[in-house]
Amino acid sequence: MLQPDVTQDWLTLNTPHFQIHYQPEHHAFALDMASLAEGVHARLSPWLKWTPKAKTQIVINDSVDDSNGAATPLPYNRFFIYMNAPVDGELMDQTGWIEQVFTHEYTHLLHHDQVSGTAENVRDIFGRGGMMSLFAFPELFAPHWSSEGIAIYAESMNGFGRNYNATYEAKMRQEVYAGLRSYSAESYEGYNNSRWPFGQVYLYGAYFYQFIEDTYGKDKVVEYITNYNANVIPWRMDQRAKRTFGLSAENLWKQFQAYLTQRFEPQITKLLPQQSPAQALVTDPYLNQFLTATANDAVIFYHNDMITQPEIRQVTAQGEQTVLLKLDKVIGLEWHDQQGLLIQRSEVFDNTRVGSDLYLFNVQTQKLQRLTHGARLPRAVWMHNGEKLLAVQVSGGQTQLLELSLADLKAGLFNPKILVELKLGEALGDLSVAPNGQTIIASVKRPKTGWQLEALNLTTLQWQALTQNAQKPRQPKFSADGLSLYYIGDAENGHQVELYYLAMGSETAQPVTQSLGYVVDFALNPSPKFQDVWLTQYSRTGQQIALLKPQITTPSNYAVSLTGDLPNFNRLIANHAPALALESPQPYQPLDTLKPVGWTPFWSAANDYTALGALLTGQDVLGFHRWAAMPTLTFLDNQTLGGGSLSYDFYNRLMLSASQTALPRFSSRTNRLVNYDAATRFQMLAHYPKNTTEGTLEMGLGLAQETVDTHWVDYNLVQSSQNQLVGGTLQWNNVHLYPHGISVTDGYQLNLTLENYVGASDHQGVAGIAELAGYFDLGKGKVLKLAGLLGQGDDGIKPFQLGGNLDSLSALGQTTQLGKREFYLRGYNASSALQGTWMERGTLELRFPLTQIYDGGSVFPIGVGKVYGKVFADSGRVSSQGQAMSDFYTGVGFELSAEALIGFDSVLLPLTLGVAQGLDKNLGDQQVYVQLSLPL
Ligand SMILES: [Zn+2]
Repeated sequence: MLQPDVTQDWLTLNTPHFQIHYQPEHHAFALDMASLAEGVHARLSPWLKWTPKAKTQIVINDSVDDSNGAATPLPYNRFFIYMNAPVDGELMDQTGWIEQVFTHEYTHLLHHDQVSGTAENVRDIFGRGGMMSLFAFPELFAPHWSSEGIAIYAESMNGFGRNYNATYEAKMRQEVYAGLRSYSAESYEGYNNSRWPFGQVYLYGAYFYQFIEDTYGKDKVVEYITNYNANVIPWRMDQRAKRTFGLSAENLWKQFQAYLTQRFEPQITKLLPQQSPAQALVTDPYLNQFLTATANDAVIFYHNDMITQPEIRQVTAQGEQTVLLKLDKVIGLEWHDQQGLLIQRSEVFDNTRVGSDLYLFNVQTQKLQRLTHGARLPRAVWMHNGEKLLAVQVSGGQTQLLELSLADLKAGLFNPKILVELKLGEALGDLSVAPNGQTIIASVKRPKTGWQLEALNLTTLQWQALTQNAQKPRQPKFSADGLSLYYIGDAENGHQVELYYLAMGSETAQPVTQSLGYVVDFALNPSPKFQDVWLTQYSRTGQQIALLKPQITTPSNYAVSLTGDLPNFNRLIANHAPALALESPQPYQPLDTLKPVGWTPFWSAANDYTALGALLTGQDVLGFHRWAAMPTLTFLDNQTLGGGSLSYDFYNRLMLSASQTALPRFSSRTNRLVNYDAATRFQMLAHYPKNTTEGTLEMGLGLAQETVDTHWVDYNLVQSSQNQLVGGTLQWNNVHLYPHGISVTDGYQLNLTLENYVGASDHQGVAGIAELAGYFDLGKGKVLKLAGLLGQGDDGIKPFQLGGNLDSLSALGQTTQLGKREFYLRGYNASSALQGTWMERGTLELRFPLTQIYDGGSVFPIGVGKVYGKVFADSGRVSSQGQAMSDFYTGVGFELSAEALIGFDSVLLPLTLGVAQGLDKNLGDQQVYVQLSLPL
């Protein structure tokens, strides 16, 4: 999902320091990035005192409507960016999107790639990407707030960016007011969004480097980075702080907290008594947004508590809440009194891409109708008659305004009339239609004026500027009579985000709120009867919905002039980017980035057995080809055996793997080698996933082959066995995992496998396995799992085996999932009594959350995330041809699990302690087990 599409053409543009990969239709965007990239490099590389040895790989991809990017130095310096500019929230910025996202991601690379001293020696020997990276990328193994902070610091060097963002000011003001997070809590938070505010590692990181600059000077910001470059033992944040500031990490953080308190206390003192007297109606954590008011004095909104399926709800002015619809992935709501509720929702399209589509929901009949497919319309509003819609379409970093007919959409037709096409570098945010239907007012971003309100005459299609200041006005909404307008904007002091009122024709706007947090969203009543304004306000516990009766009769001394100073755009690199003499783009060459760039040695030994080897891996920058090789030498009983494994994956569609291994067995009494298996295996899987918003269907066709020669050392005897399987798999899953959930919370998983031994196999016949699991949300994070497993095979198959606490894949099938024979039955050991060519098993589990910690040691970096429990019962039975069915064997037990956080927020490892008791008198067993599942 969201990966570059292998069926499309890709081009590569070379600049002195970068290779930019993109699709031909995005050539203009890539050219803009190429000239800007060298400008950003010229500014950041000397500042961070680092120049990467190889060219940085950049992938421009238009697979999602969102605005994002991500960077990694492994296995080589690379990042991708999504093309569409942010139009709201803290990413909404005066900097051009290409420059904003490029600067942020490239800073991550210049930072994470840095190395010196012993760490550099380790990198010189082992390269990049293997296990040894733990000792060769010191900057990568530090809490995320430290990396995000320096990237935001760099993105803000032009005077914009999140370090100058009024939304960030309001959020940090709330942190100071409600109590600042500790050093350890922030260091274990990572990207888990375990507590409100979400994304707080960005927030604290951004202010941390401001604190360093303000307290110790600009040079210390860079010194704090470079001082850590020779660090070989990962996560020594304490030493890093001591070396740069002569303080422990904890004490440095305490200084940081004191700095924040001193900086924000005056704002708090001033704002607290002035806060608008809004009446809070909805305080349920966490997200309550996309407000849209109805004519009967109620507001519809989207509620997401992060632990169950999100809901579209309604709340009345008296505070009565009703759930209208359970629906996830909603990104916008727009009510019309006759037509109903227009919903914008993120949908999967073209199998790998995600874009916004429109739905219509009738509240009375509860009918939800999908109106578009793959149309990419993240914003849409009703024309007042309800027969037409205006929608913003995004694609390839460009925006256009469309007019759509509801009748067409309902009939399944998408015949948009393009009203306006914006240029590359311009963006169209939220918009509002005047009640007379002749004008819209929108927040529009243009390179020379930044974000401003503009009016579009729908007859002449001419834009007219309405504001010219540094407020970043957004979410304009006409009042019901069309005589005034409300919008959200930054206050002139740069640290408040408030709701403003503008009488049409007036030269000034007045704030109607004063907030300790900030105004996230608002809605106006469509009927002139009600003057109330519905608000979503940011608070320390989440977003809250409140009802405000605005007092706007007297001009206030907070009035904002609509024609103030424009932001200073001269500091943007885009305005000084030198014209680059570029060669014409070349077709994309996967081989350029496919070569190995690092290796991991391994060694294992027991008695007279030693194995030595190396693991090498590679992948091209677009992710079309991946490979791994593990050459191994085994020294056994005076022999040297060569072998290892080799695997290749083409775009998650075709997997090939081959291996030659030696597995020794020793006498438990004398420790002498008894025998060893020399095994050769080959597997192939053709694979096709079909992704939709509702779930994923995966089909696979596989072939697996193995030959095992067992060498009996003392008898000079070799026993051979071989098996070949062909088969198919079909999997469906529509399960949901919510961010604060402890497991999959709702939905189903179905796995079907049919396989047949072929050729000169020791086993013969056909085997089929069917497994269905259902998950049921019991509320507050509790989940009921019901699962059933059936297996049936011919007489000659390798029999199914029940027992133990984990299902396991056989060495024969591995990547193909074929040949699986061992299935758990907790409370029983695998034994011949639980073997058969027929098996059935039922499982019932109740999973429940216990607590969420995300904190731990500040010097020794081990901590705990979520803690949860499970009680379960398994019941299974087996039989073979010609035999009666066995009794049901039932086991019960419980498990206690905790997410271990290792290296602050670097690695999350779920650890489980289980106890199971088999209830059968003869076969039942008491088992205590520890499981460790890797975060794959
Ligand atoms: Zn980042």
